[in-house]
Amino acid sequence: MCYLGTKRFEGLGMAGKRRLLEVMAEAGVIWLQITGGEPLIDPAFPEAYRYAHELGMQLELLSNGSRLHKASVLDLLVELPPSKISLSVYGATAATYDTVTRNRGAFDRFAEGLDRAVRAALNIDLSLIITRQNAHEADAMRAWAKRLRLPFREYANMSPTIHGTAEPLPSQSPEHLTHRAPFTGCPAGVTFFHADPFGRASICKVGREPNVDLITEGVEGLARLGGIAADLMLRTGGCTGCQLSGTCRVCRPMAKVFQEAKAPLSHYCQHGMQEVAR
Ligand code: SF4
Ligand code: SF4
Repeated sequence: MCYLGTKRFEGLGMAGKRRLLEVMAEAGVIWLQITGGEPLIDPAFPEAYRYAHELGMQLELLSNGSRLHKASVLDLLVELPPSKISLSVYGATAATYDTVTRNRGAFDRFAEGLDRAVRAALNIDLSLIITRQNAHEADAMRAWAKRLRLPFREYANMSPTIHGTAEPLPSQSPEHLTHRAPFTGCPAGVTFFHADPFGRASICKVGREPNVDLITEGVEGLARLGGIAADLMLRTGGCTGCQLSGTCRVCRPMAKVFQEAKAPLSHYCQHGMQEVAR
């Protein structure tokens, strides 16, 4: 159900990672959210994480928690605590969790790592991922989070992949889908940006084209992102001339991937939502 689609382990080596972090520091980045794929499986993660910390960045991690049970990982996070670590939860029992993640033993490893991280007093919040396969355990997942006294959010609405393909959508649990709030603007590319594993900066995780190669262009290239953001937010392509854009619930980059994936309009577009409401 991942918005990245099929992933390959690829990207910058350690020298490139250091260069990317230095460009970010030069740009004045003070908050860095490290995500993936799964960031904790990268053998270079400890060195890169330490370096980002040395550069004075406030670090936040998005992780599936599959490696938290390892002492080497937990020790690093206890020594240099992230400001927050957000952990995805895919079920409340081994049978369901392992089915959703297609990984035997994944639940036991996750539960052990979560337990250790809680006892280490890391600042954790949980992202409960509600899908067709685990929806029957939604209450049990909420109860688990409450038992641990951890804040949690629920995610049931899946996006198409950033490549504009629809494979995450069938995993949604129809009865758990929620209405997105109306889109009122987003400072992507202005107050924050995204960098992919090759150091290409884009306005956000979804609107990845055009982008700026921070490794070759350095911090000066970032000045172009504001203009790129302004262009990407225009209601062009399949949204051209839309009379309902004032009440639209998705930004243009998100609408574009839904349109490319040929997702049902009722999932994202006011035209489809109005049809359903009639
Ligand atoms: S997907 Fe849209 S709302 Fe989300 S960060 Fe990008 S531009 Fe902003
Ligand atoms: S309502 Fe639909 S067509 Fe109109 S701007 Fe939003 S996504 Fe595009």
